[in-house]
Amino acid sequence: MAYVKPKKHLGQHFLTSQQTAWDIVDALTMHGDYKKVLEIGPGTGVLTDKLITKDNFETQVIEIDIESVEYLRNELGLAEEQIISGDFLKLDLPTIAPSPVAIIGNFPYNISSQIFFKVYENRNQVTEVVCMIQKEVAERIVSPPGKKTNGILSILLQAYYEMEYLFTVPPDVFNPPPKVDSAVISMKRNTRDVVPCDEVLFKKVVKQAFSTRRKTLRNAMKAFNLPIELTEQDVFNKRAEQLGVEEFIDLTQKVEAVLKS
Ligand code: SAH
Repeated sequence: MAYVKPKKHLGQHFLTSQQTAWDIVDALTMHGDYKKVLEIGPGTGVLTDKLITKDNFETQVIEIDIESVEYLRNELGLAEEQIISGDFLKLDLPTIAPSPVAIIGNFPYNISSQIFFKVYENRNQVTEVVCMIQKEVAERIVSPPGKKTNGILSILLQAYYEMEYLFTVPPDVFNPPPKVDSAVISMKRNTRDVVPCDEVLFKKVVKQAFSTRRKTLRNAMKAFNLPIELTEQDVFNKRAEQLGVEEFIDLTQKVEAVLKS
């Protein structure tokens, strides 16, 4: 049996528990009428070999590591059209997945935030995500407002996805074991088409608000040069982590109104 030596710089920690792999694959609901599943970072295919047993899935994988790609081809017998050899972060998602697609994967932890930003940008294609990430990151992005663990990604993703923490995975079911606990989360696209405010500004406001998360919004939002009539409002006494999605939409609408006037 061929063997792929785990490469640290690619965040390779291969899952060794078949049961955990099944639990991840079975968590995909494929709600809605579509079949396309894209796996990010299949490595030696512990999820892939299960995905391809599902007749109702059209599975495609994207893997950056040439050695793993060879392995998937030769040992798992994946067809050429099922394998994209490359970097997910550079992939133009709409060209391979016109719409809609579910994303699955044990993400390389060093780029999980970038993967989520890319999902956010392609939210109208990506109907569902089931992924394993660092436990701490998982807790942060599913966390409801008011928690210190809240951040930019929790707000942006929660605007468009139902987020759910599924289960924790200990280090000892990986080769090599990571230094941290892992967790599997699920994200399902909600029914919101667009936020009822300027989309680009919404993202800017969220980023700016969290830029100095321990300060009040009045201080954190200084870069926007907002008029005092606005910043004397109560919401500006709060800190970013105290606001949920709806409050951020509300805040963006207020900023938008000022910028337009
Ligand atoms: N799914 C496998 C491997 C998880 S490790 C398992 O569960 O065992 C993360 C995988 O992501 C590795 O195979 C690594 O090569 C791959 N990877 C890292 N960066 C990537 C990128 N930018 N695009 C696609 N794959 C990437």
